[in-house]
Amino acid sequence: MNIALAIHGGAGTLRRQDMSAEQEQAYLAGLNAALDAGLTILQKGGKALDAVSAAVCSLEDNPLFNAGKGAVFTLGGRIEMEAAVMDGATQACGSVTGVTSARNPVLLARAVMEHTPHVTLGFDAADRFAHERGLPCATPDYFFTERRWQALQEEKQRLAEGGKEEDAPEDRKHGTVGAVALDSQGRLAAATSTGGRTAKMDGRVGDTPVFGAGTWADAHCAVSGTGHGEYFVRIAAAHDISARLRYAGQDIATAAEAVVNGSLRAQGGTGGVVAVDHQGRVAMPFNCEGMYRAMVDGAGRREVAIYR
Ligand code: ASP
Repeated sequence: MNIALAIHGGAGTLRRQDMSAEQEQAYLAGLNAALDAGLTILQKGGKALDAVSAAVCSLEDNPLFNAGKGAVFTLGGRIEMEAAVMDGATQACGSVTGVTSARNPVLLARAVMEHTPHVTLGFDAADRFAHERGLPCATPDYFFTERRWQALQEEKQRLAEGGKEEDAPEDRKHGTVGAVALDSQGRLAAATSTGGRTAKMDGRVGDTPVFGAGTWADAHCAVSGTGHGEYFVRIAAAHDISARLRYAGQDIATAAEAVVNGSLRAQGGTGGVVAVDHQGRVAMPFNCEGMYRAMVDGAGRREVAIYR
């Protein structure tokens, strides 16, 4: 049985002309490290669920990406993170929203899946649950990054001058990390983690923790999305990719493309997905300038890229 892993570090990259060679190297190194973290597990015969968790933890620990350590700020200057994990073999899933202290929100989402009778937990109760489970937690200073704080100030200024929320620069608007995997037992899994959108309202819930929107896995495919979350929710983006495989007989590339460059774009939503099917075929479409992404597919092909 083939193994496959695809990850993303968010759609909405720095514009090509603004990306220095050093920055590009740092992003590529971060993607390679996260890919290898997940791949090592799959190569040893480990579970897809463990591989996506490990890849996402690596990206959450890297301040370059908008999740965990590098999460963006809400309008009120807070960090409110979201994460989800889904096991395609059983369709068990867990997600968290509005969390402020878990260093790796993806592990908290997994704890919700494995240690509660529920699928989603939010805000103070989710923070308390992180402590109860003994997960690594941190105070707000751990999550503070100067770059994200400046982005909030610029975004507040732009909004105060009458700018529209959706017109924010891509690198400020977007960001999320995610992973999808197929393991040697044929099991699929997906995980996604995000700080959300810079200057989102406090309490806003995006697509990442909503199953079928930003995260999905079943016996046919696993999908993790990044982009304007409200649109992913409106079109049930991640689930629609699976539905196209099952009901329309589409292949993963056609299905993912139809959602990202078809229905999502038609609604006015920007973003992209990484998706893998039960044979290890990978699709990574996006409808904006770039998407930090990397994969090893079932045929053993490795790719790490940012732009088209
Ligand atoms: N999907 C995330 C959200 O809307 C942000 C992103 O991926 O750009 O919260």
